[in-house]
Amino acid sequence: MSPIFASPPIQQIDSIARALNVELYVLRLDLVHPLISGNKWYKLKYNLEAAKRENIDTILTFGGAYSNHIYATAAAGNLFGFKTIGVIRGEETLPLNPTLEFATSQGMQLIYIDRQTYRLRNSSTLHQELYARFGKVFIIPEGGCNLNGVKGCTEIISPDIEFDIACIACGTGTTLAGVALSLNDRRRVIGFSVLRGDFLKHDIESLLRQYQDSKSISWDLICNYHFGGYAKVNDELLRFAREFEREHDIPLDYVYTAKMFYGVMDLVKEGYFDGRRVLLIHTGGLQGNVKKQAGMPVPQE
Ligand SMILES: *Cc1c(COP(=O)(O)O)cnc(C)c1O
Repeated sequence: MSPIFASPPIQQIDSIARALNVELYVLRLDLVHPLISGNKWYKLKYNLEAAKRENIDTILTFGGAYSNHIYATAAAGNLFGFKTIGVIRGEETLPLNPTLEFATSQGMQLIYIDRQTYRLRNSSTLHQELYARFGKVFIIPEGGCNLNGVKGCTEIISPDIEFDIACIACGTGTTLAGVALSLNDRRRVIGFSVLRGDFLKHDIESLLRQYQDSKSISWDLICNYHFGGYAKVNDELLRFAREFEREHDIPLDYVYTAKMFYGVMDLVKEGYFDGRRVLLIHTGGLQGNVKKQAGMPVPQE
């Protein structure tokens, strides 16, 4: 399924980091495909292959109204000949926002479930109801967070890329888990959680255990650059993202990558990465910026 995807370019960013004895490189996953960008493709890849192997022609998945995963699943389904159903958290709002408008344009059928029921999105009770209603569908969890997703993410960093520490923004931690599994022991990956709290650590440990229980894996999660929680922003973050784009010609999304890049730059100044070659993984997500520019309300968790 891969040939239509470009291999991600690496861009060195020249900044104050140089003067502080740190080399920064950006792995531009945001450029692998115009519609299925960033880490979402890697998380979908083996799920779509599994669906095909099982002869299931419909993908069903879950997400919020601004979800990058919903957007990418709709586009990938359209591209690879799957029907797609998006189960969206909360009530329908018309007109559809740009994310859901796009999903619909790719042929995705949208259904809405209330927030209470949405909490059951990983339960077999809800899945049984969905099978009863839609027949044979291949269910991908919210955010592509399953072992197929982890497997795809082991392919993000090709072995010939040289670096000491990779940095990545984390929502479910699936991408971090895959990247961590792909590294040899001289290298390390650090996740920057975009969620408040540190429960994500346990989620990541559990994913890694399910995937492979033997090898010791070196990873870390930094939990103090969430800016108030999922999809919360402040002026400082928005200003940082704007200035970063102007200086390096790399756009950042406000939900994930801006927070990670901000955190990295902050830690560079603190001397945290002294003497290291750091690879920042740009996971895409730029479709979601539309709402911020249009001044539309930010989704609440
Ligand atoms: C979904 C997403 C993430 C989070 O990936 P996880 O595997 O859920 O941790 C990071 N960055 C962007 C841009 C995303 O869209």
